[in-house]
Amino acid sequence: MKELKTLKEKGLLRDIKDRESSQGKAIIIKGREYINFASNDYLGLSSHPKVIEGAKKAFERFGGGGGASRLLSGGTVLHEELESLIADFKGTEKALIFNSGYSLNTGVIPSISNESDAIFSDELNHASIIDGCKLSRAKKYIYRHKDTEHLKELIKDVKAEKKIVITDGVFSMDGDIAPIKDICRLCKDEGAMLYIDDAHATGVLGRGKGTLEHFGIKPEPWIIQMGTLSKALGSFGAFVAGSCDLIEWLINTSRSFIFSTSLPPSVIGASIEAIKIIKKDISLIDNLWANRNKLAQALNESGFNTGKTETPIIPMMMKDIESTIKLSSELMQKGIYAPSIRPPTVKTPRIRLTVTASHTDEDIEILLRALKDFTF
Ligand code: PMP
Repeated sequence: MKELKTLKEKGLLRDIKDRESSQGKAIIIKGREYINFASNDYLGLSSHPKVIEGAKKAFERFGGGGGASRLLSGGTVLHEELESLIADFKGTEKALIFNSGYSLNTGVIPSISNESDAIFSDELNHASIIDGCKLSRAKKYIYRHKDTEHLKELIKDVKAEKKIVITDGVFSMDGDIAPIKDICRLCKDEGAMLYIDDAHATGVLGRGKGTLEHFGIKPEPWIIQMGTLSKALGSFGAFVAGSCDLIEWLINTSRSFIFSTSLPPSVIGASIEAIKIIKKDISLIDNLWANRNKLAQALNESGFNTGKTETPIIPMMMKDIESTIKLSSELMQKGIYAPSIRPPTVKTPRIRLTVTASHTDEDIEILLRALKDFTF
């Protein structure tokens, strides 16, 4: 295939490297162990004994798959329990589970907007938001990354029935945090709704509660928060948290919720335990931040360009695709898994490091030593 050949020539061909081990800070690929700096399992919860036990118990009680969509007998009392736990944790009236963050963003965004509305989206928002916006029939306006002045210029001139500002809370490839305080103020002034994607903020920012809590802002009916259960919570799926009316509307209109088989009870059982863990004890979150600060500081002192990171997502910006691939494969030879991220996912090629609560000082030292040997 000609197109595939072109991708290969440009160094843009992707490949899959499957694990033979559980997820975590150490993984085994083709019989070799690697220190993993590529996982979003920020708190190491995917292999936490209580999370595994939660999945096992649910599996034994309810069996394997959901068997049908939630509206057609696919849900269990565990689904309901998880939604109540999330609503309580997030301080909202209600919450609703979707099968993944991707299916949530492509289901909720078209549900809350139509051709009379306008969506304002940060230029670095996640692909699932971009696709959700494409599916919605609203007019789209892209504002420069985190640039609230640009957002203001765009939003004040637009006439629409409803205006919705959409932003990642933590940006997945750069690790910086959206200026939610300023955005909230602007939304209030303009009577706009705010939609926050907390995929990478859940379990990480604001004692695990996400970006709003990080900025000390209370949830309001015009703010919609989504988060994923697949990253810091070590399970799978996603949730949207908001008002009773919002959740009822989504149950009745969101196509990815209505027309897809519900998540298996074992996954829900794991999520319930994960939420309970971070609700009760923030020591894992403290460990995560201690490791994050250690690594970010050491990389900066060694002269690496880590962009604007403020979180456990730490990109190392590279000058071109070739050197990015070279560094990634040299690290792999040294037993470190840190894959390259290239266009079109990002404009500037990079190694996207993610540090977790499970990494030890020694893991971080090994990475830093390996990086010192690399000639850029
Ligand atoms: N939003 C953001 C910001 C993400 O980074 C991701 C996943 N990479 C998603 C949504 C999609 O979530 P999921 O992996 O659960 O589909």
